[in-house]
Amino acid sequence: MSRAILHWISGPVLRAHREGDFALREAVAVGERGLLGEVVRIDGAEIVVQVYEDTTGLRPGTPIEGSGMPLAVELGPHLLGGMFDGLLRPLGGVHEAFVAAGGRAAPPQSFGFEPVAVAGAAVAPGALLGHLRCGQSMPQPVLCPPAVQGVLEWIAAAGPCSDVDPLCAVRDAAGVSHPIAARQRWPVRTPRPVRRRLPADAPLVTGQRILDSLFPVALGGKAAIPGGFGTGKTVLLEALARGCAADVIVYLGCGERGNEIAGVLEEFPQLADPRSGRSLMERTVIVANTSNMPVAAREASIYSAVTVAEWFRDQGLDVALMADSTSRWAEALREVSGRFGELPGEGGYPAYLSSRLADFYERAARVETLGGRTGSVTVIGAISPPSGDFSEPVTSHTKRYVRAFWALDVRRAQARFYPAVHPLQSYADNPRGFATWWAAQGNDAWWSLRRRFLSLLEEQARLERMARIIGKDALPARQQLALLCAELLNEGFLRQSAFSPIDRVAPPAKQGAMMRLLARFMDLAEDALAAGAAVTAIAALPCLRPLARMGEEIAHDQPQRFTELQTRIEAEFGSLRSAETGEAHAPAAAG
Ligand code: ADP
Ligand code: MG
Repeated sequence: MSRAILHWISGPVLRAHREGDFALREAVAVGERGLLGEVVRIDGAEIVVQVYEDTTGLRPGTPIEGSGMPLAVELGPHLLGGMFDGLLRPLGGVHEAFVAAGGRAAPPQSFGFEPVAVAGAAVAPGALLGHLRCGQSMPQPVLCPPAVQGVLEWIAAAGPCSDVDPLCAVRDAAGVSHPIAARQRWPVRTPRPVRRRLPADAPLVTGQRILDSLFPVALGGKAAIPGGFGTGKTVLLEALARGCAADVIVYLGCGERGNEIAGVLEEFPQLADPRSGRSLMERTVIVANTSNMPVAAREASIYSAVTVAEWFRDQGLDVALMADSTSRWAEALREVSGRFGELPGEGGYPAYLSSRLADFYERAARVETLGGRTGSVTVIGAISPPSGDFSEPVTSHTKRYVRAFWALDVRRAQARFYPAVHPLQSYADNPRGFATWWAAQGNDAWWSLRRRFLSLLEEQARLERMARIIGKDALPARQQLALLCAELLNEGFLRQSAFSPIDRVAPPAKQGAMMRLLARFMDLAEDALAAGAAVTAIAALPCLRPLARMGEEIAHDQPQRFTELQTRIEAEFGSLRSAETGEAHAPAAAG
């Protein structure tokens, strides 16, 4: 292996004279402690190394050993339910205000092995070799790694096993034997190969009405949640982790303060999985690099997290990756790049900020795996733009790569309107393809209802501007009614409490029922207005209150209550009409 001698140190960045060949992106071990680093530049006889651990105490003269391999992480059955640092080493422990940094590789774990493949069989990348079981949690497949193909020489019998010991070996065409363990290494910056990418024609159901019904993200798609401080990014990501229809959640806490991440780490294990009723952690992997941990590992952490997501995708699962926050990741990139002496670009970020963001988001996909399964990775990244300015570089570059943009609005958050997703600043690219999916869920009218709701919200913004000038009462009755309906849409549909047990996850069927009921109200209100009813009379209908609160009051397994509410709305409009008719006839009768 090659060696280099350290001569210059600046925080996580080292320069060293090389005594042999190094490859760009080669992993290295620094000094006696074997600090993990990566060659990020080769300058003639000098290499520049970025170190993923605390460099305090390092001195010039320290040797650096090359590994001959790119920076890689350990993937395996030990990941589910675990908490790891930016290089997937188990976290030392969670304390009130901080998360202790990770040490070395995860210790071996015991599982029960059940072989599926038999010795002598031909196996190709992605082939199912066997299953691992551990207690009650879901069995995990052991697959043939991407680069290995040949004949199965031997395979372990059913029984207890360790995830680090070989369970079988495959002899390739050249006669080389490849031992295969359940735990496998993969270079984080290289996307795991797939057979092909599949079209993204179904949404990832998030359980959040404003997202699913108005700005859906595809299964295997990518979304960003930009929002200033305190607008609800973390609460929304947690709500998505809890409620979205993914099989596995990878939660990346990246560069936020230790106490915020400690909150997530403490809360997640206590959350019940709405699907199984068991702990949500059983199908979650948490990767955390808090602001007190080495900055370079933060840069690597998003690739580690997406590599974990691809690992489970390759098992044929739908994986959702939540990253909080990509701005802190970009700041780490900026800090490390500054120490290399690279020329800063826009906002001080290196010129490759955009391509690095692309490298990350491009790994989101719905795919046919090497083993012929269908799996997906959906990436949802929070962005915390300084002073909430969406024109800053991280937000504007991210916009180029994501297909759904869920903009959190400071004013909505200040008014405690949650989730504070702004319906006019948010968008989803071309969601019309999901109409077929919605129709299969029993909501044939989804596309037209969505269009109707969005144009009502646009009209609301326009009318509110006008009302500020001329006064609300001076608006024509039709426009006053539009404002009333828009308010009902906001209160009764877009607003959704993350803390209400009934409301925090809204399944598609409930969303559809609510959309149809609101549309029914709007139709009846327009008819009533046309028939001469006063807006004030419509606004005084008692059914408005249960309509505005149906999200919190009607559980998803009570569809008959939506029917009852509809009957009630129709009855109230009916009596409104007879009252109007009564009034209209009264003077005539008196005369
Ligand atoms: P950010 O991560 O954007 O800085 P947080 O997610 O920590 O903001 O939210 C800040 C606070 O706003 C939370 O502590 C909570 O009180 C409130 N909040 C945010 N989202 C919601 C929600 N969906 N429902 C209720 N309260 C919320
Ligand atoms: Mg936050």
